[in-house]
Amino acid sequence: MYINGKWANAASGKIFEVFNPATGQRIDSVPDGDAQDTEMAIGAAADAFSGWSGLTAYQRSEYLYVAHRIMMDNMDHLAHVMTEEQGKPIRAARNEVKYGADFLLWFAEEAKRIYGRTILSSRADQRFVVLKQPVGVVGAVTPWNYPVSMITRKVAPALAAGCTIVLKPAEATPLCAMEMFKIFEQACIPSGVVNLVTALSPEPVGAAMLMDKRVRKITFTGSTDVGKMIARKAADQLKRISLELGGHAPFIVCEDADPVHAAKGAMMVKFLNTGQACISPNRIFVHQRLLDDFLNEAHKRVSGMTVGNGMDPGVSIGPLIGPAALDKVVRQVEDAVSLGAEVICGGRRMVANGLDKGCFFAPTILNRVTPDMRIYREETFGPVAAVIPYDNETDVLDMANDTNYGLASYVYTRDISRAMRYFEGLHFGIVGINDINPTAAAAPFGGMKESGLGREGAQEGISEYLETKLGGFSI
Ligand code: NAP
Ligand code: MG
Repeated sequence: MYINGKWANAASGKIFEVFNPATGQRIDSVPDGDAQDTEMAIGAAADAFSGWSGLTAYQRSEYLYVAHRIMMDNMDHLAHVMTEEQGKPIRAARNEVKYGADFLLWFAEEAKRIYGRTILSSRADQRFVVLKQPVGVVGAVTPWNYPVSMITRKVAPALAAGCTIVLKPAEATPLCAMEMFKIFEQACIPSGVVNLVTALSPEPVGAAMLMDKRVRKITFTGSTDVGKMIARKAADQLKRISLELGGHAPFIVCEDADPVHAAKGAMMVKFLNTGQACISPNRIFVHQRLLDDFLNEAHKRVSGMTVGNGMDPGVSIGPLIGPAALDKVVRQVEDAVSLGAEVICGGRRMVANGLDKGCFFAPTILNRVTPDMRIYREETFGPVAAVIPYDNETDVLDMANDTNYGLASYVYTRDISRAMRYFEGLHFGIVGINDINPTAAAAPFGGMKESGLGREGAQEGISEYLETKLGGFSI
């Protein structure tokens, strides 16, 4: 762990093991931190706060620029660690490192654009001044699916704003987190400003962050259930919270769309990261008229995907993160098939040629998915494209919105009026119109409804770490 500028073992001396999800082999072991370690890290962050927030924005920005450069210089190494630990193909891992580094660069720039304002008063002798100040010590919890970029997406804006931070990465991907903190160390970020607590069991670490009054903000990316629990507990001290939670993205292919282009886009984004992405399309609504052409092209594309160890050249689909993830996918597919879904391709675990050592599931297309199936309601987080034929535009918008989630959504159409109607009518924080990658460090990312609170990236991303203070001056 990295606490107060030093690498440390857990106070208890405990460790836990990290495994390669493609081979099942142990890669390394890391400290198993608990509440005591977390309290030390919070103490370090609290002590470092006045020094760090007292630097000029230009000074804080410079540290982030340096970290960005070191991260880019280490791209291949980071990508290698990520593929080994998380499973995604090495090319996708490189893309993630680049995306993750973008947050350091973007917030190095935004650090200098934290503006307050002055407001006119009705009293001649009064002046109002609005000041933006860092919220204080931040507790951050990150998931395993994007193990590097979810760290920079929180650390960069927090540091830019003048906050100090304690971060707990997912149990499955502590090594990526350690690599990122080595970069923060090499960038000479002062002791205590960034702290890392790795842990097997998240509860004691989370509870320590939630109970300690010095922590003024919690930022969390992960499942909706854990996000809700954090929101409930954060209420005790009215800590600020940012939550990036699950999704259940609709992907609507309109009657006027090009079915080949739409199928290409749908398959690319669906199978990204083996479907383990919060913005992964979970319900693909295809107009009846286009269904055959769409399915033909989708099938052709999926047939060209190679499943295997992400380190092997040519592999485009890696393993699922673990047995529980595999079970969930198997259960959803079995349930859908038993209720009448048609398997266009895939539909089973892959075990030949040594794939039984990891959790591999064949990229799958299911047709005729209906609302009574679990896959229609539950986030899948796996390589299964669920296709739902429709024939009425009004119905499809209602069906797309009929979910408690509200993160990403996608629409394919060549009609500008229709595009605008969907853009305005979809209850989702992100709408991709003929676009499968509506994300960037410069763009606000986040969900409506039970997909979360707050936004990451963009100007919004830094405001999550700032308090607004009003000064009234009588002169
Ligand atoms: P998860 O179980 O909620 O885990 C996420 C993180 O929270 C991990 O670090 C986990 O630690 C920790 N955690 C779990 N229980 C906790 C507790 N009681 N107190 C404090 N921390 C706790 O989610 P996951 O299944 O790993 O990740 C997938 C989910 O994340 C999906 O629902 C996905 O949609 C969502 N996600 C959302 C976004 C977004 O930006 N909206 C991005 C990526 C993923 P352990 O690893 O030890 O369990
Ligand atoms: Mg755990």
